[in-house]
Amino acid sequence: TDADGRHHRAEATVDLAALRANLAALRERTGGPAVMAVVKADAYGHGALPCALAALEAGASWLGTATPEEALALRAAGIGPDRARILCWLWTPGGPWEQALRAGVDISVGGRWALDELLAAVRTSGVPARVHLKADTGLGRGGCQPHDWPGLVAAARRAEAEGLLTVAGVWSHFAAADEPGHPSIQLQLDGFAAALAQAEAAGLRPEVRHLANSPATLLLPQSHYDLVRPGLAMYGLSPVPEVGGPADFGLRPVMSLTARLALVKEVPGGHGVSYGHHYTTPGSTTLGLVPLGYADGIPRHASNTGPVQIGGKWRTVAGRVAMDQFVVDLGGDAPAVGDEVLLFGSGERGEPTAEDWARACGTISYEIVTRIGARVPRRYV
Ligand code: PLP
Repeated sequence: TDADGRHHRAEATVDLAALRANLAALRERTGGPAVMAVVKADAYGHGALPCALAALEAGASWLGTATPEEALALRAAGIGPDRARILCWLWTPGGPWEQALRAGVDISVGGRWALDELLAAVRTSGVPARVHLKADTGLGRGGCQPHDWPGLVAAARRAEAEGLLTVAGVWSHFAAADEPGHPSIQLQLDGFAAALAQAEAAGLRPEVRHLANSPATLLLPQSHYDLVRPGLAMYGLSPVPEVGGPADFGLRPVMSLTARLALVKEVPGGHGVSYGHHYTTPGSTTLGLVPLGYADGIPRHASNTGPVQIGGKWRTVAGRVAMDQFVVDLGGDAPAVGDEVLLFGSGERGEPTAEDWARACGTISYEIVTRIGARVPRRYV
């Protein structure tokens, strides 16, 4: 954006007031539980630090990241342990565990090998860990299987008795909370209750028990326990588009993506457009060039399907999305170079939404916003 507030190529506007309002709506809907704002993956493409700060202002008390590096970056940016607890849950061998301990980051442990490596870091750093034991209650991804759970719990309890760690949390993650009525939901709720009962019987007293991602935060109050972990809903997108859109849950999309038309030109009918000529102009028409491509996170699957709004009208990506640009058939309209192209936003201006892009590309809105690349400047309002 230049001094006049105009942007030349493209920008993603991130509406932090909407984020704060979404968080307030989620807190009102859930009532009691604490909120962990999930800000991994650069806050789903929205910018980790500004979104974390906005979420904390709006009443979140925890931040959730995947990697320890993401957690350390938030600490390094000034979000101290007195301001927010941070949990990182993606264990990788050889991670910066000593630094994470010194920075007061809570760490998820889903198996004995992770516990052993973490205890080694505790011994060398002299800093006791705060761990969240992760039960695999059915997702079949990270976390501890039921048959290994008693052993993990017992080992954690022994380490706790030695003063090496505190079990601050027991937690799990849903496989299909976004599919109401999916049989795995009740099985996971039951499995989590059983894992908690075993942990408590072994003498653990976790400060927070947590299970709910966005769809569970919105639809499954019995999963809320002490803490909910919304990501997508905080960014104003619906995790259950077939149940309801953002507005049905009192949410507003936070990110808008706009660009400026870089070229407008007339072409005859029968003209091939973009790589491979997967679009041919049906008659003489005007083409507009949008200076965004798959390097910016515009899915190549949007070729011939992605929607944009130009001059109040919806148009479709014509031909293939290239690395840095794509073409739109303007159907004889002749907007000016520099005119605004709305790719997605809240929908309040009649523009497409991230959900429209997801449908057009055979993916989910999570992927649309998260992949908007670092080359696209963010503007915070
Ligand atoms: N909790 C964990 C462990 C996650 O990995 C994620 C993201 O996938 C979330 C919570 C937030 O999920 P959602 O964006 O559906 O709220």
